[in-house]
Amino acid sequence: EELVRLQKAIANAGVASRRHAEELIATGHVEVNGQVVTEMGVKVTSRDEVLVDGVPLTKPISRHYLFYKPRGVITAVTDDKKRKVVTDYFEEVPERLYPVGRLDYDTSGLLIMTNDGEFANQLMHPKFKIEKHYIAKVQGIPTRLALDPLRKGMKIDGKKLAPARFNIISSDKAKKTAIVELTIHQGVNHQVKNMLKAVGFPVIKLSRPQYGPLTLDGLQPGDYRPLKPREVDALR
Ligand code: URA
Repeated sequence: EELVRLQKAIANAGVASRRHAEELIATGHVEVNGQVVTEMGVKVTSRDEVLVDGVPLTKPISRHYLFYKPRGVITAVTDDKKRKVVTDYFEEVPERLYPVGRLDYDTSGLLIMTNDGEFANQLMHPKFKIEKHYIAKVQGIPTRLALDPLRKGMKIDGKKLAPARFNIISSDKAKKTAIVELTIHQGVNHQVKNMLKAVGFPVIKLSRPQYGPLTLDGLQPGDYRPLKPREVDALR
């Protein structure tokens, strides 16, 4: 059972923004299990009965979207430096969405957005081993042998990483760059960049064209579409 702050539970149910939910709590509009709660910081699970002005919170319908994240966008719901964030693309969507995992600011590609925290946690759980497919442009021209540590599972910052599959797609001898395709099922921060940097081939450009069985077919950067029910089933 996931514990969440009361104001977040209210916001997640679509009743009010988080700030407005705090006001509702402070002004005595909210009851938890029959008791009015006015202090902040109380945590609840889906088993607690939360009433706002006497009306129970209901679990919102799960909505999941496939998003083609452009470069130059933060994978977050707010940014204190006022940079563009992924949720800026979903202003006409009524649900409060958040990203499943993360793509770096300068990485483009497939990102799942959902209003369902349980679904998000499921997808991110290591035991699900969802394969993420990346295309990296690297500085330098690697041989298969030079990239072999990726296949064996590397240790970076004391953390043993799961093995990655890779293919060297092409190289540009004049520019001394190459295109490498990689498949990993982990989601450690900056994993692809760190792995390639550790073997001496820093990433210049990174994109993620595939997430599990899903692809970006028919979408342009900044586009999104709802996941089809059978796509949701295929991910679980
Ligand atoms: N690995 C990275 O280094 N960056 C990403 O955005 C995703 C995976």
